[in-house]
Amino acid sequence: MTPPTDDTVIMQRFRLIIIWLLLLVPTLLLGAGALYLLKGEEGRLQSSARATAGDRVAAIAGNIDLAIAEVKDGLLETLKTLPAADLTRQTDLLEEWKRSNPLVRNVFVWEQGRGLRYPDPELPASDEEASFIRRYLSLFANQSDWQEPLADVTATAEEEQISSVLAERQELRQLAKQAPTADAVAPASIAPVNGSDGWRHWFADNRLHLVGWFEPAGAGRRIGVEVEMMALLSRLLGNFPSAPPEGETYALIDGNGHTFHQVGPLEIDADSNYLASVSVSGLPHWQVAAFSDTSAAATGSGFMLISSLLVGTFVVAILLGGSLLLWQAHRNQRDARQKTSFVSNVSHELKTPLTTIRMYAEMLGEERIDDPEKRRNYLQTIVRESQRLTRLVNNVLDFSRLEQGRKEFSRERIDLNGLLHQLLDGQLVRIEEAGMQLTRRIASEEIAINGDRDALEQVILNLLDNAIKYAATGGRITVELDADSGLAHLRVCDNGPGIPGAHRQQIFDKFHRVDASLTTRQQGSGLGLSIARQLAEGMNGSLTFRPQEPAGACFELTLPLGSPS
Ligand code: ADP
Repeated sequence: MTPPTDDTVIMQRFRLIIIWLLLLVPTLLLGAGALYLLKGEEGRLQSSARATAGDRVAAIAGNIDLAIAEVKDGLLETLKTLPAADLTRQTDLLEEWKRSNPLVRNVFVWEQGRGLRYPDPELPASDEEASFIRRYLSLFANQSDWQEPLADVTATAEEEQISSVLAERQELRQLAKQAPTADAVAPASIAPVNGSDGWRHWFADNRLHLVGWFEPAGAGRRIGVEVEMMALLSRLLGNFPSAPPEGETYALIDGNGHTFHQVGPLEIDADSNYLASVSVSGLPHWQVAAFSDTSAAATGSGFMLISSLLVGTFVVAILLGGSLLLWQAHRNQRDARQKTSFVSNVSHELKTPLTTIRMYAEMLGEERIDDPEKRRNYLQTIVRESQRLTRLVNNVLDFSRLEQGRKEFSRERIDLNGLLHQLLDGQLVRIEEAGMQLTRRIASEEIAINGDRDALEQVILNLLDNAIKYAATGGRITVELDADSGLAHLRVCDNGPGIPGAHRQQIFDKFHRVDASLTTRQQGSGLGLSIARQLAEGMNGSLTFRPQEPAGACFELTLPLGSPS
């Protein structure tokens, strides 16, 4: 069988590339699809984490608002129960209340047109009273609104939704508190601006304060209370979860951006990544916020990193696995081709000598050849061809033994000079018939090795066979034998076409034949050199190729010298 031509090789490569692309493209598409889906999943995870944190934060803020509203209502209720008696009686009761109720920081009485009546602005009883009077100077001078000014808040859609939820809850609460009587007064919070009570947030000394007042109808006198903020705030903290979800921190942040209270492990600062925040309407500019260990983006990128790594690993694994299968399939195909080619080559090589032997044997058998010279020639040819058959069969047998690791090497002392002369003498007729000349450069001193005689003969005959087969055009074979530094060197050289650079290593691979017009015309199985090298190595030697100048091939067999007998 002829070796594959360039076109066949190109076609095979092309087919391999197409198959590989068929593997690569769907795998990459699969990977890209998986990444796209994962990206969507990452967005969904992030928004669901934000939504959950937002719900929790809104619930906390809502509860705080309700608690503040309760406190405000409670304090106003108390103010309303004070009898509209004379000023001294009222101030006594208010003082008493202030002492007994931790939520009350200061109390006051204010009259329309007369200003602050109690505590006496001229004679404050304590530093606290003095600073209270100073704090609310503009209010008591009637220069500020007694009612809460309308908040100028541009709420986000999320906050609007939350504040509408809170409004609903407050309305429900008012509804529940409504008195069953027909003449029940309207709830305080929806009283007109100049109504009889109200609350006012007050910013002073960089802090938030809260004052409430009540004006009995027609009295022109307002009695009021300033809330002890610390006492109020400390009672609101129970609205925070005692154990927040892992990795999350919830905090109450004041109007200056300082953390008033927090639950959770995170150290909150300006750079902290917050998941959600909601304003507390009962505490203007205060917020309840949720923070996470890592920012949503970082969580997302971690998720994407791990997912991409996984997808990448799968894609690489599929591609590697596929490529491995393809490579294996390609090798199997090549092996199958080589085996077919080997069988057909060997059959052909066996057929040629068999035909010759049969033809000459028949002619001799018919006893029609009278010329004794001719008869001797025919007989010599039969011997030569059967020797050739033996070499071929030996090659095939050696090949199968070497392949299976069953080849055993005997070790006997061999006189290389003698063996070489004997082998060359036996090949002289063939060499002459091929029109070639043999030059022997065999050292005169004895060169002996310890090795396997049959294996050695097989190596030398394979090299001579090749030289006769492939280098007949050159016309010369040189066989050299010498020794140095404990090694015997046996060279079989010719001045034929030689071996192209690209093939110099591969010629020792099994089944490899050089695809060149000069050599492919010759029959061969591609086994000779592969077997020769393995046999040389089996005898602790080596077989190498050396190019000849200007043309030709030279094979050198190197073997360790045997110990002198
Ligand atoms: P075979 O001779 O049966 O094809 P070998 O293993 O002996 O197998 O040789 C492998 C190939 O090396 C040959 O097919 C031939 O192309 C090349 N080759 C071997 N010896 C020579 C040589 N002396 N000159 C040129 N080419 C050679």
